[in-house]
Amino acid sequence: MRANRRRDTSPERLVRSRLHEAGFRYRVDYPIRPDDGRLIRPDLVFTRKRVAVFIDGCFWHGCQLHGNRTFKRNSHYWAPKIARNQQRDESQVQRLRSDGWTVLRFWEHETPEAIAQTIAANLADPPAFA
Ligand SMILES: [Zn+2]
Repeated sequence: MRANRRRDTSPERLVRSRLHEAGFRYRVDYPIRPDDGRLIRPDLVFTRKRVAVFIDGCFWHGCQLHGNRTFKRNSHYWAPKIARNQQRDESQVQRLRSDGWTVLRFWEHETPEAIAQTIAANLADPPAFA
């Protein structure tokens, strides 16, 4: 299933297990419909704190460091797709923020430790981080 593959990518799984070990509880693939528009499914959602987390894949979301390697060969094919993804990302962030969500976005190339710590710092009363 496409959704399963997306949410079980390795960097995200590592972030999840670190947060879980530290005592944080979250929803995975939890649908949000902020403005009666299209559903948004952040990678992790902390419903009570209204914190939505995206861990974006470097290729599909157009990371500046790793995103455009493949462009050299089929750039006419990939560039518009990735540009569309980036527009969708931006619109989702705006819709969530307008609805009072804190949105945290990361790249999959960031270390799981750093991502987990930033998420923890953004939750108001986090348990001690192991
Ligand atoms: Zn990257």
